Amino acid sequence: MDKKNVWKKYRGDDFTLLNVICDDYRQFLSKSKIEREAVRNSIQLAEKAGFVNLNTYIENQAPLVPGDKIYVNNRGKSVAFFIIGSEDITKGMNILGAHVDSPRLDLKANPLYEEKDFAYLDTHYYGGIKKYQWVTLPLALHGVIIRKNGEKIHVEVGEDENDPVIGITDLLPHLGNEQLKKEASKVIEGEGLDLLIGSVPFPEEDDEKKDKELVKKNILAILKDRYDIEEDDFLSAEIEVVPAGKARDFGLDRSMIMGYGQDDKVCAYTSLRAFLDAPACNKTISCILVDKEEIGSMGATGMQSNFYEDALLEICNLMGHTENTAVGRCFRNSNMLSSDVNAAYDPLYSDVMDKRNASYFNQGVVFCKYTGSRGKSGSNDATAEFIAKIRNVMDKHYVNFQISELGKVDAGGGGTIAYILANKNVNVIDCGVGVLSMHAPWEVTAKADIYEAYKCYLAFLQDA
Ligand code: MN
Ligand code: MN
Repeated sequence: MDKKNVWKKYRGDDFTLLNVICDDYRQFLSKSKIEREAVRNSIQLAEKAGFVNLNTYIENQAPLVPGDKIYVNNRGKSVAFFIIGSEDITKGMNILGAHVDSPRLDLKANPLYEEKDFAYLDTHYYGGIKKYQWVTLPLALHGVIIRKNGEKIHVEVGEDENDPVIGITDLLPHLGNEQLKKEASKVIEGEGLDLLIGSVPFPEEDDEKKDKELVKKNILAILKDRYDIEEDDFLSAEIEVVPAGKARDFGLDRSMIMGYGQDDKVCAYTSLRAFLDAPACNKTISCILVDKEEIGSMGATGMQSNFYEDALLEICNLMGHTENTAVGRCFRNSNMLSSDVNAAYDPLYSDVMDKRNASYFNQGVVFCKYTGSRGKSGSNDATAEFIAKIRNVMDKHYVNFQISELGKVDAGGGGTIAYILANKNVNVIDCGVGVLSMHAPWEVTAKADIYEAYKCYLAFLQDA
């Protein structure tokens, strides 16, 4: 196999477009740390491009015609976009699907407590993290608090340079003898991931009253002042704790990007960008951005939810396909790229990789026939026929790609959303960008691979 650093192949236009896409991506990433923000920002980009909420069509019983651009907003946490093609929808769609949730810490329902004049927020981690990576970092709070009357309060603390940050403390090495003898998975325990958020007691007029937990009381006063909330309002909140700060160019040659949540916003952004940039296609094309992948794709906003199929039923109805075979026919004629990141080869950790079947930085977009673990268990395992078709499309559009697996046999493994639409009888293969330090607070990707992913998604939408 010819494995070449793609930078050597680039000419003037490539450099220009690569930089435009990567700069836009870096900004999107900094503004879209949690799934709600990614969905909101994606819908904003789509609306600017003329997309309309499907509900508008349903309410007016307006027929859908070729060229119509619609989106389905699922609870503000996942979204599906469609552009109706000139060909009948039952002939199948070309679908891109990525996830917009990322590993993080979530506040518990009763998070606030005081201990020895410190106020803390208690958390439960979300997705696969190495807990020791989350201490001594500047952290930010992102999310929503919903009042009993349904009113929604958006929370974002720690991103503006004038904002304070919060964080989790670690033990000093001087007293760390016992801690450093522990297994890495136990150095910091799940219940130890508590955020230090304050240390000033509430000023009491009457010192004799000896009100306890005055530091907590003071934090509640700050929250009341800033958001007009009571402690009970945490019960109906979704507040996510993520690394504070923007994504940055990485490397002295600026060839890479470091940022939080690139799994899987790097594929979400490039998929959406290609989808919005695609010229008019014969086939109906779709882009799905979903929540909950990191915890098994369950729930109403995960890929296992019926929301996508329901949307498709509505769309078929609005196109005059009232027969109950329409959705099934559409699915079995459809192609999908499950756009998700791959573990790129890291020379510092080479022993978990099979060098001939690993993905490499700067060698293009990565196709992954199967993920899973213990003998491909739980994986989609794309057919050879479908991979041949994809190879043909990629070569036709001069897309640089590599085909790899996720680490050595029995080194571990992972999953994506690929199997879910594959179970509905869609042709699916995993396809995405290689990542270093995946699931760490700050992940690294290569700009050339981001550019190739964009080209790949564009080629797939037009020609698969
Ligand atoms: Mn992923
Ligand atoms: Mn992941």
